[in-house]
Amino acid sequence: MIHKFDVVIVGAGGAGLRAAVEIPKGYSCAVISKVFPTRSHTGTAQGGVCAALSNEEDDSWLNHAFDTVKGSDYLGDQDAIEIMCQDAPRAIIELEHMGMPFSRTKEGKIAQRKFGGHTKPEDPNDPNSRRLPVQRACYSADRTGHVMLQTLYENCIKNNVNFFSEYYLTDLIIEDGTCKGLIALDMATSEIHTFHAKAVMFATGGYGRVYRITSNAHVGTGDGCALVYQAGLPLEDMEFYQFHPTGLWRLGILVSEAARGEGGILRNSANEPFMEVYAPTVKDLAPRDMVSRAIISEIRAGRGILGSDGTYYINLDLTHLGKKVIDEKIPEITGFARTYLGVEPTKESVPIQPTAHYAMGGIPTNYDTEVLYDNKGKTVTGFYAAGECACVSVHGGNRLGTNSLLDIVVFGRRGGKKIAEFLETAKQIDFNSDPSEKTKEKLTNLLSQSGNEKTAVIRRELQQNMMDKCGIFRNETDLTEMKQLIMQYKERYNNITVQDKSSVFNTDLVETIELANMLDIAESINDGALNRKESRGAHMREDFPKREDEKWMKHTFIWKDGSGGNPRIDYKPVIKTRFEPMERKY
Ligand SMILES: Cc1cc2nc3c(=O)[nH]c(=O)nc-3n(C[C@H](O)[C@H](O)[C@H](O)COP(=O)(O)OP(=O)(O)OC[C@H]3O[C@@H](n4cnc5c(N)ncnc54)[C@H](O)[C@@H]3O)c2cc1C
Repeated sequence: MIHKFDVVIVGAGGAGLRAAVEIPKGYSCAVISKVFPTRSHTGTAQGGVCAALSNEEDDSWLNHAFDTVKGSDYLGDQDAIEIMCQDAPRAIIELEHMGMPFSRTKEGKIAQRKFGGHTKPEDPNDPNSRRLPVQRACYSADRTGHVMLQTLYENCIKNNVNFFSEYYLTDLIIEDGTCKGLIALDMATSEIHTFHAKAVMFATGGYGRVYRITSNAHVGTGDGCALVYQAGLPLEDMEFYQFHPTGLWRLGILVSEAARGEGGILRNSANEPFMEVYAPTVKDLAPRDMVSRAIISEIRAGRGILGSDGTYYINLDLTHLGKKVIDEKIPEITGFARTYLGVEPTKESVPIQPTAHYAMGGIPTNYDTEVLYDNKGKTVTGFYAAGECACVSVHGGNRLGTNSLLDIVVFGRRGGKKIAEFLETAKQIDFNSDPSEKTKEKLTNLLSQSGNEKTAVIRRELQQNMMDKCGIFRNETDLTEMKQLIMQYKERYNNITVQDKSSVFNTDLVETIELANMLDIAESINDGALNRKESRGAHMREDFPKREDEKWMKHTFIWKDGSGGNPRIDYKPVIKTRFEPMERKY
């Protein structure tokens, strides 16, 4: 079946929906999602969305930009960061006017809480004075993403956006440097649909599922990024993958930083509040890369708490916050601790461990969300990307909490505006040949191939090994081993038998396609990590523990088409405006 639209957006999370809202009446717009729109991962975001509103104390967008640049370990592009931080207060007010119900202060203003790495100078007249945590995260209890997604979905319905729910994107159609559309599988029937469009946006979210312990939803398999990589286009900064310090032990379900923003404290087996040692000024509110490393360092030093299954965890102590704060400000996450671990957070500490959480890298774009064709700035006509799947790059080597919900609404909107501008003159360009033929052949081959391998088995091995060899601490030996393992998994992939041959909700087939995508994503993360011989942000090389600005303050671009089946790597300079690199101390 063929559909024609002016614009097709893949992904119904915050980025995709915010872009869809921006498409003017008169143009047809479709949004495709592999889950029902409001089940997108944005709906699980807990802690908040930041903006220097100064509702509770003095703050400025420049403070916010400084923190974001420093948090990124000087890998973020400062022009894009300035755009985001300057636009943040407007974006929050806009969400409020769209109907998003924020939590309130006593005076009725939008309430704000502290979050890791968000600071302001102690002396407002001296920008170089000690920087202390500031209340910058706007929130709706600990359901901020949930209410944001519902609000954006309602606005899309109001604007007559066409939704294709439970449609799975399988192919991207780029011919002669122009994006002409895409192919998706209707998961209910396995029918193949061709979407012919003047403009396509990918807002396909992250890829935490390449790791075993992750906060990400099952859909976070990186399909959009993998398709871009498979199409011969580059991915950017893939080695920078964020581990959030506090996932529920063994499960990875997120306990938002809001818990520490409200005063929660991390404690080791001796009940010591150890973050004082690693970040004397901001302590438990240090950025995520630092807190995650501190937790693993405590466990390695023998100060973890031994769990019933022989693995170690660290305690998150919320008991001193009192029942009122817990019930009113962090009800959801404390509920998870009760349900999944059987602990009562008002009386006992919550066992936690770092959990794979957020992709700083992704599809390279300029700050108008146009997808880059190369590392020189050339773009792919009619192709856009926004949200977690994209790399603008505002998060550089390490994202600050609450900056992603901001990123998706700011750049989702900018993308929508840029597409609207493009549509004024864009023409529907015919396909060179029927693009669905290739997809049909691919699916037929997958369904007919046979061997003794199972998708779930390879996936589990990949996830565990990515955790062990390409996680928080990295080194040459582990990364080299991981590279070989990924090559073996790719070989074994050809011997997978898709056991379900039916056409109704064939999740076995979809998961097998997802696995191919996850293998490519893992390859790009691991090769990037092997190549970058320094430590910066979330990328910590034990064998190269220092940040090396002279040599490495540059973005990695990685292509699939290197020699001998290896990826190829090149670089793009970091854009600097006003913030000079300095040592990152908190
Ligand atoms: C548990 C959790 C809590 C978080 N809390 C916060 C927070 O408090 N503050 C903050 O700033 N950030 C937070 N984050 C990060 C933030 O929520 C995400 O980075 C952001 O919401 C991503 O939005 P997105 O629109 O890019 O993608 P998503 O919301 O992930 O949506 C991706 C969309 O792409 C679709 N898709 C993907 N592949 C395909 C395919 N093959 N075919 C069709 N459709 C496809 C999916 O169906 C989905 O609709 C949190 C993340 C997690 C996991």
